[in-house]
Amino acid sequence: MMISQSLPGLIVGNNNYECEGHVILPSSPTNDETFGSFSSATPDDLKNHINESYDAFLQWRKVPAPKRGELIRLMGNVFREHKQDFAEIIMLEVGKIKQEALGEVQEVIDICDFAVGLSRQLHGLTIASERPDHRLMEQWHPLGPVGIITAFNFPMAVWAWNATLAIVCGNPVIWKPSEKAPFCAEACHRALMKAVEMCDFEVPNAISIVVNGYADVGAELAKSTVVPLISATGSTTMGQNVAVAVAKRFGRSLLELGGNAAMIITPNADLNLAVKAALFSAIGTCGQRCTSLRRLIVHESIYDAFVTKLKAGYASLKIGDPLVDDSVHVGPIIDDEAKVNMIVAYNRVLNTVGSRMLCMAKSDLPSKGSYVFPVAVEVSEHHEFMDEEVFGPLLYVMKYSTIEQAIELNNRVPQGLSSTIITSNIAEAELFCSPVGSDCGLANVNVGTSGAEIGGAFGGEKQTGGGRESGSDAWKAYMRRQTNSINYSVEMPLAQGVKFEL
Ligand code: NAD
Repeated sequence: MMISQSLPGLIVGNNNYECEGHVILPSSPTNDETFGSFSSATPDDLKNHINESYDAFLQWRKVPAPKRGELIRLMGNVFREHKQDFAEIIMLEVGKIKQEALGEVQEVIDICDFAVGLSRQLHGLTIASERPDHRLMEQWHPLGPVGIITAFNFPMAVWAWNATLAIVCGNPVIWKPSEKAPFCAEACHRALMKAVEMCDFEVPNAISIVVNGYADVGAELAKSTVVPLISATGSTTMGQNVAVAVAKRFGRSLLELGGNAAMIITPNADLNLAVKAALFSAIGTCGQRCTSLRRLIVHESIYDAFVTKLKAGYASLKIGDPLVDDSVHVGPIIDDEAKVNMIVAYNRVLNTVGSRMLCMAKSDLPSKGSYVFPVAVEVSEHHEFMDEEVFGPLLYVMKYSTIEQAIELNNRVPQGLSSTIITSNIAEAELFCSPVGSDCGLANVNVGTSGAEIGGAFGGEKQTGGGRESGSDAWKAYMRRQTNSINYSVEMPLAQGVKFEL
């Protein structure tokens, strides 16, 4: 699969529309080279085409759900067959290392499989009725066009988590991808359209719309009454804007926003396991996962032994251009702005009383591209600036003395996405996962903070937005619930014993 040099601003199924919005010049963070140029859509372009999605909904909701699943099964096959090609686009556009890019495509394949099974399991409940000869039940119906707004850091998987579920649930999708990853979006959309071609039943052309652009286009999508559900992934600031716009029109939003993950390492931890879990969680995707480890909370009794291992881990990291070297552990950060943010945050913590540099990668940095050194800095306590999510490989390391204090530090920040405890003590592990333990949507034991299996519901509390997507019963967000009361007798028992003399 080759990457096209120019993209349409707006794509409705197989129809491409050139637009006259902002000029976007995608360049690779791996080497700064520009590989395309196009004009984004404007809010008006979206307005002019959004009703096509509604027309597609009227048709798609009538297709039986297992058939809708067949479309997703075929799309999954396209990703399987071209796994390497899709991974290369991710590497070029957002700079992931090869294994992580392949891992992201595998997530797309996995959620396709999940959605295919789900397409035969969209079930409601039958509930005991209080009235004789009545049946009380719940059904789940298609909802309407689903708007998907995504961040740059999972440029294919997050779309797939949403689009596969939305489509099997009977809804077309309208995708506003990150302006930093439009080519990944185009590739995913084309995979879906290839699956449409292979279907032996009719699929409406506007089953998928991609609208390339900046925040103004996302804001237009958020306020459109054509779209009953907006699933938005990105920063907390973006989520605040989207939530207000959607609430104003009584739409639904599913928000997957910023994280600030912590890991507690207790005296009962296996330190070899702990160091691998901490290192990968902190430096994976160059610290640009919503679940990336930002705060390491280590018991004072094992602190020195653990830090010695962590230093060795950082020293072994190889940083480099993933396009030329398959063996690098750390690729680039997304762009120069992110690089500056990381350096500013790094200087801020180092200039704070009680802080000291603990670990730093020693590898050479490539001369071109946006590269930074992953670092771990010791802090004497939680500082207010640690409430902020720094989207890069900067890790704060703290000591603790009691498990209650460690859990309090874990829960101290405004975000609530991912958290981990490393321990072989069952009481500590269970306390961490109990109602008085971690306040995050994801609470792990002896597993890193980053990454999650698609089978579980994914999402977080507080400023992370409260949404759940991917596995478990997350599909319910993409459907509307209907309660049916059915009387199969000739009697009409009226509520509260009211009687008519008829
Ligand atoms: P971002 O908020 O800058 O952009 C995300 C998307 O929102 C982009 O498509 C952008 O154009 C759009 N957008 C921005 N402002 C908008 C507005 N007012 N209305 C509508 N759309 C708007 O985020 P980013 O820099 O691309 O990604 C990094 C952030 O995403 C981090 O905070 C990270 O934690 C978060 N993230 C969260 C999850 C999760 O599941 N919780 C997953 C991935 C990333």
